[in-house]
Amino acid sequence: MEYRTLGRTGLEVSAISLGTEYLLDVPPVQAVDVVRRAIEAGVNYFDLFYAQPAFRDTMAQAFEGLRDRVVLTAHLGAGERDGQYERIRDPERCAAYIEDNLRRYRIDCIDVLFLHNCDEPDDCDAIFAPGGLAEMAEGFRSEGKARFVGFSTHTIATARRAIATDRVDVLMFPINLTGHATPGRRELFEACLDRGIGLVGMKPYAGGKLLQPQPELSLTRVATGGPSLEMDQQAVTPVQCLAYALAQPGVSAVVPGCSDLSQLEDALSWLSADDAERDFSAALAGFGRFRSGECVYCNHCLPCPAGIDIGAVMRLLDRARVGVTAALRDEHAALPANAFHCRQCGACTPRCPFGVDPGELMAQAAELFAVP
Ligand code: SF4
Ligand code: SF4
Repeated sequence: MEYRTLGRTGLEVSAISLGTEYLLDVPPVQAVDVVRRAIEAGVNYFDLFYAQPAFRDTMAQAFEGLRDRVVLTAHLGAGERDGQYERIRDPERCAAYIEDNLRRYRIDCIDVLFLHNCDEPDDCDAIFAPGGLAEMAEGFRSEGKARFVGFSTHTIATARRAIATDRVDVLMFPINLTGHATPGRRELFEACLDRGIGLVGMKPYAGGKLLQPQPELSLTRVATGGPSLEMDQQAVTPVQCLAYALAQPGVSAVVPGCSDLSQLEDALSWLSADDAERDFSAALAGFGRFRSGECVYCNHCLPCPAGIDIGAVMRLLDRARVGVTAALRDEHAALPANAFHCRQCGACTPRCPFGVDPGELMAQAAELFAVP
């Protein structure tokens, strides 16, 4: 494993680290296997934001006896409602989820406590205002319950606002080929370097879209009425995606999501890949026009009052646009709640950091998945 220093925290973290969101819905034994195999391979940094009690218990089992070998994170502002992820700002609930985290993981201290999923300037200002979540995170740090404070966001302007406060030690930000042309991206990374802020790259595969055959990549965007990506190259490999993220200025670690051992091995193969396998330059040219509007199945738009797993429906929708099959209809019908249950309430739209209108796409999915 290659280890890099996580900015001013001084923590040595594995370049290939692990996001755990794809372990939420797999059998607990599989989730434990993936985490344990990752640790065996030298992975030592784990992003952990889910607050669902059963998931926390599963992760606690995975880290049992290995606490001294790993850097554990938690997210202040991530909660749950009726079993679904929910971004929260209520101070009491936020604090309660962190105490729950410490209790369920059977740990005294979280290594990096992230101020969770903050994209809007107003939210950022509220977080750093007196009595806001930043103060709460610093309180946890003073009590010895957290070592460092992090900030997770999807927008450059908000990231710049947060790091300018000089109150965060680590920034977690989406870093993948699709965002390469976004204005201000490189300057943000260099600002982190200048300030000694550790940089962790999330969503290196853009929610898995980069690994799909290229024609699928632009479908949701086309459906939202935006310009197509105008690309004709082959799907990108996991190694190229990870090589891209790890080549950006200041990036210490990247946290791909892996739902099984095979996906984990794909990520770990970056370690043994040669220069030709890591070369992402040809792939990069095709992403110069990408902006927003592309669903990456991240579920930051939850909770949904109808109980829909929005990311799961979007994933099926993208596959169905290539050709809707009976098997895809069955998969959609088997979801506990699906596009047919959408109430068009619009609650999800402002929560999407990627400019997607999930309600609109739910309507399209309902049309596509309707039995002819
Ligand atoms: S609609 Fe937006 S927030 Fe919801 S899953 Fe897609 S990208 Fe994520
Ligand atoms: S618009 Fe549909 S998908 Fe979005 S939150 Fe409302 S019910 Fe759920």
